[in-house]
Amino acid sequence: MTQETSEIQPKRVFIKTYGCQMNVYDSDRMADALAPHGYQPTQTMDDADLVVLNTCHIREKASEKVFSELGRLAELRAEGRNFLVGVAGCVAQAEGEEIARRAKGRVDMVFGPQSYHRLPDLIARAQAGEMVLETEFPTEDKFEHLPAANPKVNRSRGLTAFLTVQEGCDKFCSFCVVPYTRGAETSRPVEQVLAEARNLVEAGVRELTLLGQNVNAYHGLDARGRTAGLGELCARLAEIEGLARIRYTTSHPSDMTDELIEAHRTNDKLMPYLHLPVQSGSDAILKAMNRRHSRADYLRTIERIKAARPDMAMSGDFIVGFPGETDADFEATLSIVREVGYASAFTFKYSVRPGTPGADMDDQIPEDVKTERLAALNELVTAQMRGFGRSCVGRTLDVLLEKPGRLPGQLGGRSPYLQAVHLEAPERLIGTVQPVLIVGAGNNSIEGKIVTHAEPKGASVIESQAFAAIAAAERENRV
Ligand code: SAM
Ligand code: SF4
Repeated sequence: MTQETSEIQPKRVFIKTYGCQMNVYDSDRMADALAPHGYQPTQTMDDADLVVLNTCHIREKASEKVFSELGRLAELRAEGRNFLVGVAGCVAQAEGEEIARRAKGRVDMVFGPQSYHRLPDLIARAQAGEMVLETEFPTEDKFEHLPAANPKVNRSRGLTAFLTVQEGCDKFCSFCVVPYTRGAETSRPVEQVLAEARNLVEAGVRELTLLGQNVNAYHGLDARGRTAGLGELCARLAEIEGLARIRYTTSHPSDMTDELIEAHRTNDKLMPYLHLPVQSGSDAILKAMNRRHSRADYLRTIERIKAARPDMAMSGDFIVGFPGETDADFEATLSIVREVGYASAFTFKYSVRPGTPGADMDDQIPEDVKTERLAALNELVTAQMRGFGRSCVGRTLDVLLEKPGRLPGQLGGRSPYLQAVHLEAPERLIGTVQPVLIVGAGNNSIEGKIVTHAEPKGASVIESQAFAAIAAAERENRV
């Protein structure tokens, strides 16, 4: 043990994550940055030496939650608990000064997503009494400075993992804060992504979801200094032995290049499920949203995708009540949903985001109209999602078996279409992909029967132990 590590006192960090998968990934990387400095993750703020709120700014309620959590933390401090409080993520980036002012005395550090590799230094400054505010976009590459997770830690995180390959966005949709909070679009170099992916796979990860606010705009440099698109990156990842599945999210329709669509034809590890938000079915609204594609462009893109991969299931995001949205515009959204037929969908009421062009538009839609439209849209997409589940009954789907199920003898897994699948199977099959006959469909999951099963292919003793350890941890969490 070195002099340095022997002096480190064990401490606990509680990171509360709001919002999207990119924040889930970032929270893990913050934990990785803190681990060499003696911080162990804890599941409760009651015994934490450091509490970090990793915030989301995409809709109004998301940032309100942060202020109410800061109030709760202030009460704990008033009761005599001693811990540092940090606010990270997109609310910190967008409203850093406002938080520092409004939550004076309740928060010690406010820092944006590009500063996570500096966290140990920020903590030292806060401990010295400084109110730390770090919301610039630093020029150094944070990914180069963030330490890799310890293999044991990676193993404890399970069989599926997120991997951020792209950050920021240059599209400037008029409703969206991402270009302001996450900055200009950047892509991680191919070799950096491959190295992180190999570490994850060595630790037992079987499925990777590549993340980016606009992930299909990925254009990372390879070892020869050439630019690689997302399709090429997926091809390189598919060469990693032991990696069974690759997904990516979230994509912009205009960035579905021929190269990426072709990858869906040729790369068996790319799953036939694509999240491709359209937001609205009305050309007038798409124009006002600055989406840079029309309804017809979107539908043509889906045709091209399905020509390459006929079993592709679609998922989408929809916003109702964007300024100026008429009944006819909303009807066009319902009709595009009917035309595409979604396997899953995420629906939102438009939320005014200060600083975005949408906030200054006339014709803001009254709340009750938004509520009514959201309910109608939800009814339609829920029916489609259930219908998609039912359409899988009688099919044999490859299921990645991930963890023990709710009942004894049961396992839980995921279909290629990201559906939760329950089936009876022995625990030793956790971590393998098995053909499963789907025999039933509920509201949120499907049920299957294993057809024949292959024993874990070449699984090493370490991997088998890892699967068993994950299974045991899952059981403990359930109790
Ligand atoms: N890059 C993706 C795209 O181009 O569609 C979207 C990523 S965004 C982080 C996730 C989703 O949040 C969007 O697809 C949109 O439906 C929703 N969203 C973003 N801003 C919103 C706002 N101001 N009000 C309501 N929903 C919003
Ligand atoms: Fe936001 Fe996506 Fe539009 Fe970028 S492309 S501005 S992330 S909605």
